[in-house]
Amino acid sequence: MSRKKIVAGNWKMNKNIFEGKQLVNDILESGLELRDDQEVVIAPPFTSLELAASQLRDSKNIYLAAQNCHQEASGAYTGEVSAEMLKGIGVSYVIIGHSERRQYFGETDAILALKVDAVLKQDMKVIFCCGESLEIREAGTQNAYIQTQIENGLFHLDEATFKNIVIAYEPIWAIGTGLTASDDQAQEMHAHIRSLVAAKYGAAAADNTSILYGGSCKPSNAAGLFSCPDVDGGLIGGASLVAADFAGIIKAR
Ligand code: PEP
Repeated sequence: MSRKKIVAGNWKMNKNIFEGKQLVNDILESGLELRDDQEVVIAPPFTSLELAASQLRDSKNIYLAAQNCHQEASGAYTGEVSAEMLKGIGVSYVIIGHSERRQYFGETDAILALKVDAVLKQDMKVIFCCGESLEIREAGTQNAYIQTQIENGLFHLDEATFKNIVIAYEPIWAIGTGLTASDDQAQEMHAHIRSLVAAKYGAAAADNTSILYGGSCKPSNAAGLFSCPDVDGGLIGGASLVAADFAGIIKAR
């Protein structure tokens, strides 16, 4: 198995440039010792990306992510940022399909598939988010729901390109709510996602795909979640805003 163990911090719309600089410094000074198969990814808002890129320049296995990009390469899209612009300032990953983008900004599966293509065209990697609402979980149809999100967003890719995809399973009912999926619930869904990848791209591709859990992950529950065989790390929201908590989660990984 050669898949990476990844802990990614999604700051969302938090931290001005001074606060962001301090947070990156604090993370760098928190004594992380990353093995070759471990990565840390930091996803600040657009305004902090360039400064964070310079702060991370000499660090090992710590990468920068953007939280979004536009699907078009350039043009009259006021307020938007292209994948090429992100690549140009040293971004390595782009988060695509976060439930907040789907819910508040109307991003459909079709738009997300185009965004995935735009990121991959720039030789960056995608952290592709999927996750069901509480309603769907209670109806017991979460597996089919996640299958549709993954098929529509990712399965147009060929096997070679799919190597640049990281999947983040983020049940909406667990994001920012303090509710966390149990270790069993996370493992069950991650195994399901891996089986979908295996059916489409083969067992080796599935084995090499990092699948992250997201949803109220914190230092106290990270070790349990990360000990599940199909959970390869986490996409962390709230706890990534406090260097000690984020470092605690990374150390649990
Ligand atoms: C997220 O928004 O990706 C997330 C997982 O948030 P939180 O950790 O705050 O639940």
